[in-house]
Amino acid sequence: MISFELTEEQREIRDWVHEFAEREIRPVAAHYDETEEFPWPVVRKAAEVGIYGHEFLGQTFADPTGIMPALVAEELCWGCAGIALAIQGTGLPVAAIFNQGTPEQIATWIPACYGTPQEPALGAFCVTEPDAGSDVSSMRTRAVKKNGDWVINGRKIFITNGGIADVHVVVAAVDPDLGVRGQASFVVPKGTPGLRQGKKEKKMGIRASHTAEVLFEDVRVPSDCLLGGEERLEARIRRARSGEHSRSAVALKTFEATRPIVGAQALGIARAAFEFALQYAKERKQFGRPIIENQAIAFKLADMATEIEAARALIWRALWESRHGGEFKKAEGSMAKLKAGEVAVKVTEEAIQICGGYGYIRDFPVEKWHRDAKIYTLFEGTSEIQRLVISRAISE
Ligand SMILES: Cc1cc2nc3c(=O)[nH]c(=O)nc-3n(C[C@H](O)[C@H](O)[C@H](O)COP(=O)(O)OP(=O)(O)OC[C@H]3O[C@@H](n4cnc5c(N)ncnc54)[C@H](O)[C@@H]3O)c2cc1C
Repeated sequence: MISFELTEEQREIRDWVHEFAEREIRPVAAHYDETEEFPWPVVRKAAEVGIYGHEFLGQTFADPTGIMPALVAEELCWGCAGIALAIQGTGLPVAAIFNQGTPEQIATWIPACYGTPQEPALGAFCVTEPDAGSDVSSMRTRAVKKNGDWVINGRKIFITNGGIADVHVVVAAVDPDLGVRGQASFVVPKGTPGLRQGKKEKKMGIRASHTAEVLFEDVRVPSDCLLGGEERLEARIRRARSGEHSRSAVALKTFEATRPIVGAQALGIARAAFEFALQYAKERKQFGRPIIENQAIAFKLADMATEIEAARALIWRALWESRHGGEFKKAEGSMAKLKAGEVAVKVTEEAIQICGGYGYIRDFPVEKWHRDAKIYTLFEGTSEIQRLVISRAISE
């Protein structure tokens, strides 16, 4: 049976998160956009009220339809995508630990990523390198086994929460000849000698989110920091060496799982811009009547509304699919992220157009939403890479 009706619990959580976004995030969004500071007070507040942490994540993921994480992401990003990412960015390393870790690793490291309601912590997922962006197979970071420990050397760039995280999950090549199939993920706790933050990036948008280079110089971690454990890694490498087909590229698997939720973040920005532009078009008068009475403006709004609904339908469908069918069969996660990212860019651009010159001025929030939206066609797989994944899936 297909139903788009939200359950009472889903509505309650959505409304609660929306209220938080309206009360705690929106009023400070421009400040953090301007200063590029990490919004610790908002993250602490989120932890205090229970919107941050593994218990909350577990509660939303326990939802039988699978869409609750999207409802939460949409509302937080409706408030501000940069601040929302400061709250939700830890979800990426958590997804890696959840997908790849042993039950003991999941029980230890997921709570460590979030900390406590009194002292929230952060996680970071380190994949991208200067010469390995979309092409994860060309990764140079190496992990070598020495006297029972793993020693990691390499340089990661553009890492959300990089260097300030309490837990870094780093993907490294253990058998570089095997490309992505010779890679493994390691947990590196804060304070491990040799782990340090490099350059902090200044960005076009999502400026409240911390993005930095992370350096690994002879970082030594015990073998139980290898996600999934030694036996599983050895078996995977044996299979890859014997030429057996495998879909278990560690970094790619994590991104596949998180894509619809990333799409929901983009959707939140699009909805914020649409709502603002609609209201403005009703109020702004030119030539003696509200500008919405011009078909040119009303049709823009009609397209924006339609595109938002289409993106949401793809996101919910993908999450429903992954909840009920396990892995995506036709790249539904990529479709959802592709559509939502491009809708967010288009809708925020049209919102600026509807607001005219005011839309281009920082006193109005729409130019920020446009800058924030652009990242959604770039990170966690560019739009081109999503199209590549989809084209492969439909021709399989
Ligand atoms: C704010 C921000 C936060 C980020 N957070 C993280 C993080 O937490 N962890 C992490 O590991 N990474 C993170 N990233 C990195 C991000 O995932 C990469 O930037 C992204 O994957 C693209 O890689 P690239 O920048 O090297 O671009 P490239 O891969 O060099 O791509 C350049 C252009 O070429 C296109 N292209 C490349 N290959 C193909 C192809 N085969 N076919 C068609 N077109 C192609 C791309 O689509 C793009 O348009 C973040 C980036 C930013 C900007």
